[in-house]
Amino acid sequence: MITIDCPVCLSTAKNITPPGYRGIVVSCLRCNVYRVTANAAAKLPTLKVEGRLAALERAKTQILSGSVPTISSGCLQRATSYRRERDDYQNERMVRYAKPRTFVHRPELTEAQSRD
Ligand SMILES: [Zn+2]
Repeated sequence: MITIDCPVCLSTAKNITPPGYRGIVVSCLRCNVYRVTANAAAKLPTLKVEGRLAALERAKTQILSGSVPTISSGCLQRATSYRRERDDYQNERMVRYAKPRTFVHRPELTEAQSRD
């Protein structure tokens, strides 16, 4: 068993990748056990910690109970677009607060939220 830095939270974790798996399997005290596909493992370091944690949360929502969450590139894309939507939303709220009469309905935002 090899000690590594957790690819998500960077604390000390164990690499428990079984032979033949093309990504990595991590056992972290903070994040528990999760898998990262080879594609996602290459992209993960390019994200900020919020994006990595969001990706892990996404992975956790996609699993059946009892199985191991897997961070795939799909989780990363959704994690970053989720963050962008949330930032847009916060910016819009600030604008709306400053100018309460210029509220513009944004159906795409409502749609993204109802998916969650
Ligand atoms: Zn971790």
